[in-house]
Amino acid sequence: MRVEYKEVNRMKKNGKFILLTRAEFKDWINNTKFSRKMRRVQNHHTYLPDYNTFRKNKKYFSLVKNMEYYHVHTAKFSQIAQNITTFPDGMIMICRSMNRNPAGIKGANTGGICVEHIGNFDNGKVNSEHQKTVLWVNAVLCERFNLTPNTTSIVYHHWYDLRSGKRKDGKGTTKTCPGRKFFGGNSVSACKKYFIPRVIDTIKNMNKKEVKVMEKDQTVSNYAKAAVALMKELQIMIGDEKGNFNPKDPITRQDLAVVAMRIIEQQK
Ligand SMILES: [Zn+2]
Repeated sequence: MRVEYKEVNRMKKNGKFILLTRAEFKDWINNTKFSRKMRRVQNHHTYLPDYNTFRKNKKYFSLVKNMEYYHVHTAKFSQIAQNITTFPDGMIMICRSMNRNPAGIKGANTGGICVEHIGNFDNGKVNSEHQKTVLWVNAVLCERFNLTPNTTSIVYHHWYDLRSGKRKDGKGTTKTCPGRKFFGGNSVSACKKYFIPRVIDTIKNMNKKEVKVMEKDQTVSNYAKAAVALMKELQIMIGDEKGNFNPKDPITRQDLAVVAMRIIEQQK
């Protein structure tokens, strides 16, 4: 809970890079127009940088800029390869323009959205906060672009032959990406068993929660919906005893004291 609250204050922009919390990401995706047709979500791990790299310097922007430098100078891409990066603490970064096909998987870039998850998941599992974000990003993208979550709309790099760009489901010349320990494995069957059902659950819960929060608060303005939902979820601002948020009511000094106390308590 504490981690999520702190994230709220971190939304930042640096050139084309936009750093977002899960709630902000959903808002951003749902309120942005895109000019190309999105057909599938690619899941990758970065291998390097990994969890250790991130732990050492938690600098989101320098981390993606270093990746971009490598992609431009060594791999000779025009810019950073991935559209989206996810971080070990659950934060999300928009990187390459979403309107451009990524340089993620030979044979699957047209209509692809490349998501790079920072970490080496050959070595270890995705941590729990990061899992929430990985599932969330896949869920939000499937919803926004009307993709039914399955192993056609959600793909792993490992399933594509690196030379021909053909999908061979793990046969041929492949990378292990997104890692042998990525949500129970990098195979198509592991994805069907351990990943897709959780993306489906995430979509269900995401919508359930929003409906519950919003059904009593029809008057919450669009710009504030994500913030109101988060404040209620974190129990920082709950509303009256009947569960009404009363979004347009004024706040008193004593209300503000209660809110401040809850924020302080959550940071302990
Ligand atoms: Zn990959």
